[in-house]
Amino acid sequence: MSLVVMKFGGTSVEDPAAINRTAAIVAGRVALGKTPIVVVSAMAKVTDQLLRAAACSAQGDKCGALAISSRLRARHRDTACLLLKNQEDTVELQKLIDEKFDSLDEILRGLAAILELTPRISDLIVSYGERLSSRIVAAAFRERGIDAAHVDARDIIVTDSQYQKAVPIDAAIEKRAHEKLLPLTAAGKVPVMGGFIASNEAGITTTLGRGGSDFTGALIGGAMNAEAIEIWTDVDGIMTTDPRVCPDALRVKVISFEEAAELAYFGAKVLHPATILPAVKKNIPVLVLNSRNPTCEGTRITSLAPHCKSPFKCIAVKKKLSIIDVVASRMLMSHGYLKEIFTIFDKHQCPVDMVSTSEVSVSLTVDSNDKLPLIAADLSKLADVKYEGRKALVCMVGEDIRGQHGIAAQVFNAVRHVNVRMISQGASEINMSFMIEEDDAEEAVRSLHAAFFQDPDPLVFDVEARKTGNREQGSGVSEAAAAATR
Ligand code: ASP
Ligand code: MG
Repeated sequence: MSLVVMKFGGTSVEDPAAINRTAAIVAGRVALGKTPIVVVSAMAKVTDQLLRAAACSAQGDKCGALAISSRLRARHRDTACLLLKNQEDTVELQKLIDEKFDSLDEILRGLAAILELTPRISDLIVSYGERLSSRIVAAAFRERGIDAAHVDARDIIVTDSQYQKAVPIDAAIEKRAHEKLLPLTAAGKVPVMGGFIASNEAGITTTLGRGGSDFTGALIGGAMNAEAIEIWTDVDGIMTTDPRVCPDALRVKVISFEEAAELAYFGAKVLHPATILPAVKKNIPVLVLNSRNPTCEGTRITSLAPHCKSPFKCIAVKKKLSIIDVVASRMLMSHGYLKEIFTIFDKHQCPVDMVSTSEVSVSLTVDSNDKLPLIAADLSKLADVKYEGRKALVCMVGEDIRGQHGIAAQVFNAVRHVNVRMISQGASEINMSFMIEEDDAEEAVRSLHAAFFQDPDPLVFDVEARKTGNREQGSGVSEAAAAATR
């Protein structure tokens, strides 16, 4: 059985047109003799709106909360109505949607009375998004000739009780996945379940954290030993850089898990970093595909990336950073000094991205935030402190830089006209990052792209698009690149 997990994000189920496209994609896989297991997100923006409703209730704004819920109810009902032609099915699905919203409203009213939103209640409220979308998608599939069976993800994805970011329990998931899913796939059915939602061993609803549907897809793929995990989104895959900044950007056809993780941790939003883990453990390839442009082959993430002529696969940029310089002659030959510095960042719960030190100075980079003056005030008790905002971190990722000579020289030659403030080559040896002024970022990216993607390897990059100049539909902005420049 060639089992594939197909995960569809919020934009792939956002309205009847999107759900129709999704159904056609799944039907196409079935026609190819594949056995899909479908995981869906909530309809686009629904998770945010549910969280807003919860926040309103918790502040005593019952009317505000119920108004959000009633708009969501209408959106789900309308979608169901537009998707289904069969009268009986429509009535049944509308009834189910109403029941769910009635119980959601009940919770929102209760919350407005007790005025305390616990992480546990938040997870319960937010779970309605995937519980609803998966029902609608399953019904739509059935009407379109796909023998879909709805499965409640909470019966399979077992986690601990850390609400809002629960940790999956692999062994329990594997057992449940086999028990619940195998009989369905063996009978030729297509299981459809929500992503993101789970439950603890007592059966109480938990969630895997924002963006967690990818994680569900990977967990199911791992538990079922799928041959591939497909992440269907609204971009063609991972791009060499943000095409809005650099029109020459190319789709990356294949990238390694390690490289993708590096980009993910760096802020690229194309997939949830943890997605990678269950897939890596079992060596299952992950494909990033575009449900608006399903014939595009997307980006394949595999454990072993092929070597390519270009040492780098991607250039990512993170803006809105600050740099803090701490200078103290007292630091010379003394110990415990860095610890004191980090204790201050810890006290303010401020994560540090990049650090570079010399004997008497330390430079650190952080996301710009309003705690900086307080942090600087604390640091100035130890040393001279300066901080500056509007910095950007340029991160070049590629496994082929490992052990290669002269790469740094090529990178810095490409940006020789730019003032580089800090440099780091990660211990992973597959990323080279440096800090520059935000205003120089776009120019730097274009220069680097021109230097390193002049003659792209057709095995790894989609050079066809560049040749034919075909970059209209679909080959638009990668979520990854877009997120990285945010
Ligand atoms: N619906 C959830 C979210 O928006 C999970 C997901 O879509 O991955 O975070
Ligand atoms: Mg997502």
